[in-house]
Amino acid sequence: MERIGIYGGTFNPPHIGHMAAAQQAIKLLHLSKLLLIPDRIAPHKSLPENSPTPRQRLEMLTIAAAQIPQAEISRVELQREGPSYTYLTVEALKQQYPNTELVLIMGTDMFLSFDSWKNWKWLAQNVTIAVLYRGQKGEQAAIKEKRDTFCALGAHVELVENQVTAISSTDLRRMLTFGCAEPFLPKGVWEYIRENRLYGVNKNLRKLPMEQLEQEVISLLKSNRIAHVLGCRDTAVELAKHWGADPVDAARAGVLHDITKALDGPLQLTLCREHGIILDAFFTENPKTLHALTGSVVAERIFGENEAVVNAIRHHTTGCAHMSLLEKIIYVADYMEPNRDFPGVDELRRLAFTDLDGAMRLGLEMTISMLQANHAQISKASLEALASLKQSSKL
Ligand code: FE
Ligand code: FE
Repeated sequence: MERIGIYGGTFNPPHIGHMAAAQQAIKLLHLSKLLLIPDRIAPHKSLPENSPTPRQRLEMLTIAAAQIPQAEISRVELQREGPSYTYLTVEALKQQYPNTELVLIMGTDMFLSFDSWKNWKWLAQNVTIAVLYRGQKGEQAAIKEKRDTFCALGAHVELVENQVTAISSTDLRRMLTFGCAEPFLPKGVWEYIRENRLYGVNKNLRKLPMEQLEQEVISLLKSNRIAHVLGCRDTAVELAKHWGADPVDAARAGVLHDITKALDGPLQLTLCREHGIILDAFFTENPKTLHALTGSVVAERIFGENEAVVNAIRHHTTGCAHMSLLEKIIYVADYMEPNRDFPGVDELRRLAFTDLDGAMRLGLEMTISMLQANHAQISKASLEALASLKQSSKL
């Protein structure tokens, strides 16, 4: 019997991860055809503000899919009113393709929540479910357990290990804002996005008024980081007023300091490559600290911030020798903002308003001893920062 794959999604925007998964599915599942089905209203999530229209998503997907001969785009969900429930799509496709095995392709997250989908039992009995999974150890057990449960109900589940390094559409939109998305977009899609000014790619983000800056930054952070960033901003302003630094610079550096933090190591490295940042060995071996460097470049080139702000972001994780007042303020504010809770934080908070250099030293010493305890590498910049603080205290 002929096998036709169903690969649905929002494709906002379609990226190389989608296309590679499509190609793998065609090959590994022996599909004669793969239907790419952009949804109209996803049942599981709402689209971020300023998303392209469904028509634009369709046009981008058409461009992307042109390179895969077996792929065909179906408008079945775009043409249907209401939420894009998969069972309705499958009902329609069963009529359109009688005597065909329909293979519903999904990623791990979708599969693990499959039993929350509308009419999932009917769906499980009317399609073959193909799970593209990444082969992570923790996930495998959960996937297999779900497979057994579904199979006991008469479902046919195939697990396909997905070798593709994926990028999520959310990260892709971040990379678009940071000017680094091109390597992740299929041929022609980047040009389409640029020509149609989608995802704010042509928006001028330089020197935004504070309120607008905050909105932009919040849209780029992971939700669990927002409170920390706003806490850091408020603490930085307080410290700036106390020690006589510019409170506007302090607020802007506080808001922007973790601007690229949502991106994982490989994406951080892509950002470096695309912006021509040359890395020393410490950064390549410790990608967690990279967000300070990439954040400073984004603050400078995308947000048009001044040198004082850029440098404060650049040195907020490691510190450096001869730090400026604003650099110290951001380093300490990041460490002690109200959401932080660890042994020693109260002493740090006390010192921050009585002896800023003392607070810096305490922060650096705590970081260094934690890294030593974990047998992790200590950055040269932190050691230099500590040495220069010790030296200036002797003068
Ligand atoms: Fe940080
Ligand atoms: Fe931070």
